[in-house]
Amino acid sequence: MKEDKDTTKQNVPAMNTENISPLFQAALNASVSGIIITDNSLPDNPIIYCNKSFERISGYNREEIIGHNCRFLQREDRGQEAREQLREAVKNGESVNVEVRNYTKEGTLFWNELFISPIKDNDGKVTHFIGVQNDVSDRKKIEQELRFEREKMEEKVIERTESLRLSQEYLESIIETVRESLLVLDPDLKVLTANEEFMRTFKVNRSETIGQKLYELGNRQWDIPQLSDLLEKILPTNNPVLDFEVEHNFPHIGQKLMLLNAHRIELEGSYKDRILLAIEDITDHRAIEVRKDDFLAVASHELKTPLTTIKGYVQFAQRLLPKDSEDKLIDIMDKANIQLDRLGRLIAELLDVSKIQSGKFELHRDEFDFNKMVHQAVDELRQATESHEIEVSGKIETKLFGDEAQLAQVVNNLIANAIKYSPKANKIKVDISTVSNYVKFSVKDFGMGISINDQKKIFERFYRVRNIQQQFPGMGIGLFICEQIIKQHEGTLWVDSEEDVGSTFSFTLPLGTEHENHGI
Ligand code: ADP
Repeated sequence: MKEDKDTTKQNVPAMNTENISPLFQAALNASVSGIIITDNSLPDNPIIYCNKSFERISGYNREEIIGHNCRFLQREDRGQEAREQLREAVKNGESVNVEVRNYTKEGTLFWNELFISPIKDNDGKVTHFIGVQNDVSDRKKIEQELRFEREKMEEKVIERTESLRLSQEYLESIIETVRESLLVLDPDLKVLTANEEFMRTFKVNRSETIGQKLYELGNRQWDIPQLSDLLEKILPTNNPVLDFEVEHNFPHIGQKLMLLNAHRIELEGSYKDRILLAIEDITDHRAIEVRKDDFLAVASHELKTPLTTIKGYVQFAQRLLPKDSEDKLIDIMDKANIQLDRLGRLIAELLDVSKIQSGKFELHRDEFDFNKMVHQAVDELRQATESHEIEVSGKIETKLFGDEAQLAQVVNNLIANAIKYSPKANKIKVDISTVSNYVKFSVKDFGMGISINDQKKIFERFYRVRNIQQQFPGMGIGLFICEQIIKQHEGTLWVDSEEDVGSTFSFTLPLGTEHENHGI
């Protein structure tokens, strides 16, 4: 054993195998397990027999094995716990089963599953040890791989748990930070979670909230048939409850106006879906809005009276001007008149808005010639604009029943906007057509266009696309009024637009006479 310095070969005679019957010898050699016998009566317990499999497993031949203590299989790899167990067992003359790292003659590591068992003489003294070994490297490898996988898995589980904990904390901090009251409800509308804001707003505590059905909270303040109807439909239909207003005298906080929004929260796996209900106290907000509307109504009304008076004075002064007055003076008076008309229109628009807000906006319907009205409006605009050519195509064959003055205001507004928001273009196309039982009116421009996002908002009152105030002054109420007028005529107003290409504003109105429209 050149490789193993500790191991010295003893000159022990190999076991006389002639005494063993050939049948047993063949049986021992046929075993897949490596089998050795050591002589415990000799110093250092040398090997005196090994079978063929031991030669195969270890890579050494018989001559290199016999006479050595079997520690040569461990080479320098001595620091193994299994080795200690082996030494103890040999010392105490006991059997033991260990798995130990061994090395073949070529130096390749193999895992040896070793079982040693003592043979005793009549006095109980250990004379020999029998060692049976199997190369279990493959099994060990799989075990190691499995362990590795398991460790990796455990690491992942730890990581995942940590990230879940973090996202849970993250979500909780969001829920606790928002200024809205939030409730999470189960499918039976029982409260699972309520945030601090809910407790604060409604002056309640957790115990009287969690686990209760929504309708039973407080003095059944949420027991509102229309709301329950909507909430019960959320899970099966996935239709959210949007901006539902509830006005109620709440037990601890009095008369309040609450805005409710509810959405389905979809949960994976065995969890049932939940409903997230957000409740916002809009009492103060609404009061401010009402004050603003009141201010608008009063302000526009108060502005109208002196304006009418000034307009009268200016017209009177114009008439008093001597025929031979300076051109400059005449021009100044004309310009003052034009600006007063402009101011008058703005104030009239503001009045319209406040009338719409308070439900006092009225239509005065009559039969009128829609084509003529459009042509008149276009003619007026043609006179006021030199930059754009306005083309009109199409017509309808019947008269229309509606408020001519209001509809003229819509037509005027849409064409004026088309001119205003296409400063680099020089053409506007107006079209009148019949679509089924409706008249369709469209104004097409080749201007700046409107982004998809803004298209949704331009019909809201006071909404203007950002950053245009300097270049295009306005109040953002024209389209709001137009839409209200068209709606009151049971029609629809909409826009198709592409940024930097242009916009087409269109409306449709039901055709028909007064009798048909009113079923008289
Ligand atoms: P105003 O023109 O006084 O701002 P409107 O209610 O008529 O008010 O229009 C609202 C907004 O819609 C405008 O500020 C403008 O941004 C946008 N808009 C309206 N018409 C057009 C158009 N033809 N092309 C591009 N943008 C338009």
